[in-house]
Amino acid sequence: MFRRSIYKSPAELRAMRAAGAATAAALAEARRLIAVGATPLELDAAAERVIVERGGRSNFQLEPGYRHTLCVSVDDDVVHGIPGDRPFRPGDLVSVDGGAEVDGWNGDAAFTVVLDDPTRPDVVASRRELARVTEHALWTGIAALARARHLNEVGAAIEEAVQASGEYGILLDYVGHGIGRRMHEEPPVFNYAVDRRGPAVKPGLVVAIEPMIVAGAIETFIRDDGWTVTTSDGSDAAHVEHSVAVHADGVWVLTAEDGGAAGLEPFGITPIPIA
Ligand code: MG
Repeated sequence: MFRRSIYKSPAELRAMRAAGAATAAALAEARRLIAVGATPLELDAAAERVIVERGGRSNFQLEPGYRHTLCVSVDDDVVHGIPGDRPFRPGDLVSVDGGAEVDGWNGDAAFTVVLDDPTRPDVVASRRELARVTEHALWTGIAALARARHLNEVGAAIEEAVQASGEYGILLDYVGHGIGRRMHEEPPVFNYAVDRRGPAVKPGLVVAIEPMIVAGAIETFIRDDGWTVTTSDGSDAAHVEHSVAVHADGVWVLTAEDGGAAGLEPFGITPIPIA
């Protein structure tokens, strides 16, 4: 069977910028709308509107059986939560995942936020710390990609960052992925150290890095809706993601509005736009 190379050409990398930008804009709109009383379905509709305005379509809706633009996973739900009409509540830990396809190319990204709850400051603080650790793990992984010779250095760096941050768990059964003509492509991008080195990190590699971090045990189950991945012990979970391109001049975070400049700055890395 013919298999397309995992490495994109310079022209293909340029073509992926629009999908990344549409994904970033859709998630920015979802982030702007998250508030106590708002509903996941409202975020979902707004994100779809942004993607369509930019000439794209939701790539999550291209997944067989999935009808939404976003996944919205609250508290102990890790990923793949189906947007519903239950309003967000104070203190909710919300992970929002979404993606756009533009001109046949894909973007995929996610963020996690914690809503204010003045009556439960301890809960809010521990959830914000989980979100911070997860975000830090993502940027550590992106920074590792910028310097890596082989892809699995990313997972090793993520694992090290999470372990240095406290008693957190990394899901083993769900990992990042290559991205391009399809949202999910080879190669897998582990969030932990594995024995294999993985493919060479060189110009043309585009991957979605997406640590899924839990405050308790790493076992999960899928809810009766057939989609939502939830921690078995009911502990909190967070998920963040970016689609990142390696090109001739450096790395560029396709799904970050600043290309990853702010997130990579603490690592001494400056993302370079794809020329
Ligand atoms: Mg993904």
